[in-house]
Amino acid sequence: MAILQIVKEGDPTLRKISRPVEEITPRILRLLDDMADTMRHANGCGLAAVQVGVLRRVVVIEVAEGELIELINPRIVAYSGKQHEQEGCLSLPGKWGTTRRPRHVTVRALNRNGEEVEYRGSDLLARAFCHELDHLDGKLFTDVVVGEVES
Ligand code: ZN
Repeated sequence: MAILQIVKEGDPTLRKISRPVEEITPRILRLLDDMADTMRHANGCGLAAVQVGVLRRVVVIEVAEGELIELINPRIVAYSGKQHEQEGCLSLPGKWGTTRRPRHVTVRALNRNGEEVEYRGSDLLARAFCHELDHLDGKLFTDVVVGEVES
């Protein structure tokens, strides 16, 4: 396990599209472990692989302590409702803004064993799903901010 360096705003890597994981290799498992360590070390509640410079569709989220969610090749399959809440990003330290997101989001992905899993999240978890999956397509929360970005 290791703490990885987090890519910061201004680095063009953050705007790149991540590729699907075709095979869950020991390298991908180690990436998941290192990403969880890095996210916790930075006091974040989500991290996408692109934020540690790896252009693969891999995400970790932990909005409740000890409830780590690992997502490989995630996709949103359903969403409903609306929320306007404050959001930040480990790649944009010190910046905050109010985003427009669905209130409930259902995500399907592979887990580390290659099994299809489904998660339903509301409120903060729904925001985290949207935020982290956006990263896989090169999008940042500042792209969907309503009004001003605060810093
Ligand atoms: Zn982010």
